[in-house]
Amino acid sequence: MTSQKTKSPSTPHRPSQGNRDFRNRTQRSGKPPSDQKNTEQNNTPRGAPQLPIGSATAQPGILLKAGREKSLLRRHPWIFSGAIERVDGAPISGDTLPVRSAQGEFLAWAAYNANSQITARVWSWREEESIDAAFFRRKISNALAARNPLPNPSPGGRRACLPSPHGGGIEGGGARLIHGESDGLPGLIVDQYGDVLVMQIGSAGAERWRDTCADILQELCKPVCIYERSDSDSRGLEGLELRNGVLRGMLPDTVEVIENGLRFSVDVAAGQKTGFYLDQRDNRALTETLARDKDVLNCFCYTGGFSLYALRGGAKSVLSIDASGDALHIAAENLTRNSLDESRAEWLEADVFHALRTLRDQNKKFDLIILDPPKFAPTAAFAEKAARGYKDINLLAFKLLRPGGLLCTYSCSGGISADLFQKIIAGAALDAGVDAQIVHHLHASADHPVLLSFPEGAYLKGLVLRVAG
Ligand code: SAH
Repeated sequence: MTSQKTKSPSTPHRPSQGNRDFRNRTQRSGKPPSDQKNTEQNNTPRGAPQLPIGSATAQPGILLKAGREKSLLRRHPWIFSGAIERVDGAPISGDTLPVRSAQGEFLAWAAYNANSQITARVWSWREEESIDAAFFRRKISNALAARNPLPNPSPGGRRACLPSPHGGGIEGGGARLIHGESDGLPGLIVDQYGDVLVMQIGSAGAERWRDTCADILQELCKPVCIYERSDSDSRGLEGLELRNGVLRGMLPDTVEVIENGLRFSVDVAAGQKTGFYLDQRDNRALTETLARDKDVLNCFCYTGGFSLYALRGGAKSVLSIDASGDALHIAAENLTRNSLDESRAEWLEADVFHALRTLRDQNKKFDLIILDPPKFAPTAAFAEKAARGYKDINLLAFKLLRPGGLLCTYSCSGGISADLFQKIIAGAALDAGVDAQIVHHLHASADHPVLLSFPEGAYLKGLVLRVAG
């Protein structure tokens, strides 16, 4: 989720985010504020809804308008304010309420939030279920267990660092342990970096059960620290205050994650998102297999993820660009930490929208370009503006590629579907005057599962394209 925009006219606008992040630090250093893609599934529309209030003395509950139960019957976990006939019983945000159809039929138990257009998020579809500590223990245990046996589909062949439901950090383990709605826990994200867990809470319901969930995670995972990064802008949209700090234990001076054998420093307190982009793990590993003897351009490089993989894969040169000086500082440290050849790496602190034009004007050419920008469209309402941003950078990238070159291009915008993204890229290739083939369709790593009934969970999409030789 996140924040201000670059000054580039071609960069779509994004609302502002948390209080202790790279963006703000970037601003202090006089650089253009950068977009971030903190809370992937933040599709929360703005503004507190006008809810029809029912009897304050009636049993608390949500009654839907006639015909508005359909999405719930398809097990989509969000109840928008517009679907609600009335709210009985004077509940407060975070309360668990039964949701009923206009005919009075029980549909779900859901967490209520009077301040969000998503007025309720479903905890359970079973009427006999109690939403209590035992419920959260079950859900969290299931999420941990589901990640344990996942095979690592990455071409590197090494198993992803996976959590043990019975113990703490697994060989440097970086993994998303809980993925919100897709793990049946709307608004709760938990990422593991070695023996540190980072928790991000984005809904009033998860906020109510925050301490319970922290206790359960402490008991099941035994981390040295649970750190809370509830400072994304979606908190504001949910009427929740921003929070950033230690929840349990003590934060070690350095937090590191080992991913497919590469070591990355993770700034859990002030880095973007929860500190690292775990969702790109498999796609970074794929890049390694494509990079041999290539001149590589990595745009929006953050702490150097794709760059380090490309270098280890034998790239001839890697130019990495990001607007955040702090992220680039960590990226350069990560390079050293992995004893990779510094002479093949160049870091550039710049606005990618401008830098791509400069490279074009300098007639620079590359064999492999990675574009992994921040979220341009948190909701479909931003899609048109976002589409212009995606088209712009992809068109420029196509022009910078040598014949036969590869473009690895991503969108983490919930408001841009995979179909639309492909159409935007097709338009960019057309305008750049190149023919290109799709050689891979990509998505987030397997520890970011997508609930079938919640397509919003498929926020990350990527294409690897080869331009004609
Ligand atoms: N590929 C990275 C994650 C990228 S996150 C990885 O694998 O870890 C998006 C990055 O874009 C952030 O580091 C942010 O600082 C940067 N950014 C946002 N707007 C930018 C802009 N206009 N120009 C350059 N970098 C920008």
